Amino acid sequence: MRYQAEAHPFHETICHCADCRRSVGAAEVAWFSVKRAAFRFVAGEPASYRSSPGVTRRFCGTCGTSLTFELDDTPDEVDVTIASLDDPGAVPPKDHSWTASKPGWAVLGDGLPQFPGPAER
Ligand SMILES: [Zn+2]
Repeated sequence: MRYQAEAHPFHETICHCADCRRSVGAAEVAWFSVKRAAFRFVAGEPASYRSSPGVTRRFCGTCGTSLTFELDDTPDEVDVTIASLDDPGAVPPKDHSWTASKPGWAVLGDGLPQFPGPAER
């Protein structure tokens, strides 16, 4: 499974929402967005499912790695997991979103802005 994202990333965030937590099986999930036209799968076909109304999540059907989050309401962009990049260090998150939903033991100490709901940009 390989993909390419050939545009500048935007909306880089670490999401703490319950939907991401349950879908990925991790306390937080780092995402970036790109324009849909700049993103494509170049090897393999991802598996997918509707994680909630209007939301499609794609993942590697072999190893289970979460890959993308797509909203029906924003068809011109796709969210991609930063940790699935060859070089995740190249796309640093800029904030935390949905922190009201994080477990109490998850203590954030990186100094990035925190938003209890969606990130305000
Ligand atoms: Zn989320």
